[in-house]
Amino acid sequence: MNLDVPGIDTLELEGKRVLIRVDFNVPLRPEEDGRLRISDDTRIRRALPTIQRVLEAGGKPILLTHLGRPKGEVKPELRLDPVALRLAELLGGNVLKVDECSGETARQAIEGAAPSTTVLLENIRFHPGETKGDPELVERLAELGDLFINDAFGTSHRDHASVAGLGRLLPSVAGELLLAELEAFRRVLEDPARPLVAILGGAKVSDKLTVIDNLLDQVDSILVGGGMAYTFLKARGESIGNSLVQDDQLELVRAAEQKAMAKGVKLLLPTDHVVADRFDAEAETRITTEIPDGWMALDIGPQTRAAYCAEIAGAQTVVWNGPMGVFELEPFKAGTEAVGRAVADCPGYCVVGGGDSVAAVEQFELAKSIDHISTGGGASLELLEGRELPGIAALRS
Ligand code: AMP
Repeated sequence: MNLDVPGIDTLELEGKRVLIRVDFNVPLRPEEDGRLRISDDTRIRRALPTIQRVLEAGGKPILLTHLGRPKGEVKPELRLDPVALRLAELLGGNVLKVDECSGETARQAIEGAAPSTTVLLENIRFHPGETKGDPELVERLAELGDLFINDAFGTSHRDHASVAGLGRLLPSVAGELLLAELEAFRRVLEDPARPLVAILGGAKVSDKLTVIDNLLDQVDSILVGGGMAYTFLKARGESIGNSLVQDDQLELVRAAEQKAMAKGVKLLLPTDHVVADRFDAEAETRITTEIPDGWMALDIGPQTRAAYCAEIAGAQTVVWNGPMGVFELEPFKAGTEAVGRAVADCPGYCVVGGGDSVAAVEQFELAKSIDHISTGGGASLELLEGRELPGIAALRS
């Protein structure tokens, strides 16, 4: 896997039309007046440094993004108008929102846009060709710009027209956010400060086995929690009651354990649990080292918490993906919270990768103490799997 990509400073931007693929796939909530408002603008904020660099260098930023899953059709509720409003507020400058994302209307709007205006093209996934990586759409998009910047880490694992397609066709570089993401994963995956500890959780072990397999070549220890831990415990012959399990993964899990042993990697599993009589915030709960029949484990127990936190405290590098339990429900959040605090307190370099672990970090208000919080769930998992991301490989072509 190659994480080297050219950055913005390698391009001459003055007077150029600069297509920037951003990830403005923000959550929208209907307000009382029926209008949609953005409930979390983090993704817009994180794209500002790249937009500002282009503006400062005298280039014309033309933004492309997707929002939601319109599946190749125009969906009025997924138009980018609320995004344009918020972007203009954050930039403190002019934003011209265009209701098309290719063709003559878009071309004319870009041409007519006053200097220091940021142009935002309409939701690119209104085009069926976007997710198919349609070369015709790539050509039409490429007509709108002289240069291309990919700053959408969260979609860089997709071979989509406005991500990898444009990267292959136009002179292209990585934006500031994408560079920061790659730098963070480089510190984990290429010659990390040791010990390197990976914390993996979440519901399904099948989603994480390739990650585990790749990380076993790099890490000193892996701490396993969440629903996926119980397939590991079952594979070791322990009783797991009604806990989440993927029986078709037992062989692969055994193979991972064997690889860990052969490599001398410490693979830690929960030794005690918060069990419940049903999957419910009002369920009866107990703390046990053995999971009784009829009960399900929904969080790691206090002994496991202490062991995992001690391992994290001694780490020089940490990568965390996936919660330790059903942290959305009050009785089962302690494991994820404790691990999150240990990561936040760890003096080493810590990366939290995507999805639910980011939600947990935010819920427990730990974000400020973590070195890097990834904006891409799927993309960060693919990097941890050791895979080349199409949107990043395209920047080198
Ligand atoms: P993932 O999308 O694979 O990262 O999984 C995240 C989900 O796993 C969260 O919604 C958690 O509630 C859930 N989860 C974590 N631990 C458990 C568990 N022990 N049993 C069932 N679900 C769990």
